[in-house]
Amino acid sequence: MKILAVETSCDETAASVVKFEKGLSHVELLSNVVATSLPMHRETGGIIPENAAREQLKYIIPVINQALKEASSKDSDIDSLAVTVGPGLIGSLLVGVETVKAYSYIWKKPIIPVNHLFGHIYANFIGRKEKEIKFPSIALIVSGGHTDLVLIKSHSNIKWLGGTRDDAAGEALDKTGRLLGLSYPAGPKIEDLAKKGTDTFKFPRPLIESGDYDFSFSGLKTAVLREVEKGAKPRLENFCYSVQQAIIDVLIKKTLKAAKEFRTKSILLGGGVAANGKLREQLELEIKNLKLEIPLFVPEKRLCTDNAAMIGAAAAFLGKPKSWDKIEANPELYFD
Ligand code: AMP
Ligand code: MG
Repeated sequence: MKILAVETSCDETAASVVKFEKGLSHVELLSNVVATSLPMHRETGGIIPENAAREQLKYIIPVINQALKEASSKDSDIDSLAVTVGPGLIGSLLVGVETVKAYSYIWKKPIIPVNHLFGHIYANFIGRKEKEIKFPSIALIVSGGHTDLVLIKSHSNIKWLGGTRDDAAGEALDKTGRLLGLSYPAGPKIEDLAKKGTDTFKFPRPLIESGDYDFSFSGLKTAVLREVEKGAKPRLENFCYSVQQAIIDVLIKKTLKAAKEFRTKSILLGGGVAANGKLREQLELEIKNLKLEIPLFVPEKRLCTDNAAMIGAAAAFLGKPKSWDKIEANPELYFD
């Protein structure tokens, strides 16, 4: 079965063709095309939703054509379409959803609607045998817009355990980065600079002992602002290390708490912040130190940030194909 998947929930315009054999349970990537309007948002220090959607309107058809070309596929080879229906920016979502509906009508192929957050989880299944990832599993989704802990008992039993009460982990990195004069998105730059820093500031680890699976990261940017306003001039590297470490410590503590409580057989990371090497290394180390023997799965870097291959993978595992007139964008979509 071949799926043409499209993702436009934020500032990326992405299309991918994935191949999936039921039973063999292995999602194969035939193409993965991502056009980003990042340089435009760098100038404004963040995403202006209307500008993002206008750019996506320009890219969407060329990106889909490129994905088909790179997969040496044409409409007759495609069994189903898939598209992110939410959560996300409404203007951006509509570009993908309405375009895919037009293709569906003309090609007479069904559409599998996909929750973007499930996409981040299922990025872990790309290029892997399904059986490698054992359930129950804990998934930590950490991106620019989301920080969520999810318990996966089976493909049809996925339960949200908790998430951020305010800023997402990536958002906290981007916003503190902005205060420190780093360009958007600051996450990768903070990771790089932190390699030469130390935990000078020992910023608070919000909710680390709260006993639930909630997160709160908005206080971090206030803590950083306070230091900046004090006129403190420590090395930028130390600011980066301190912010990154505060976020990582909380993410890991809660992920391992969930892994122990639910006796999980695997831990999955997903989302742009999962590309962070320090998060991955420290989590691996703590799993080992606690002798938990739980395998950690992290998608390859290009599949951590938004892409359409992960939407194709989620569609392959969870998909319920529908007629084009039953598909609607839902910016508020969440788990359940
Ligand atoms: P997404 O929303 O999934 O597209 O991911 C984008 C978010 O991931 C932004 O907030 C980035 O700052 C963040 N990000 C990307 N790469 C890294 C990294 N290496 N370390 C930390 N954060 C990152
Ligand atoms: Mg995302």
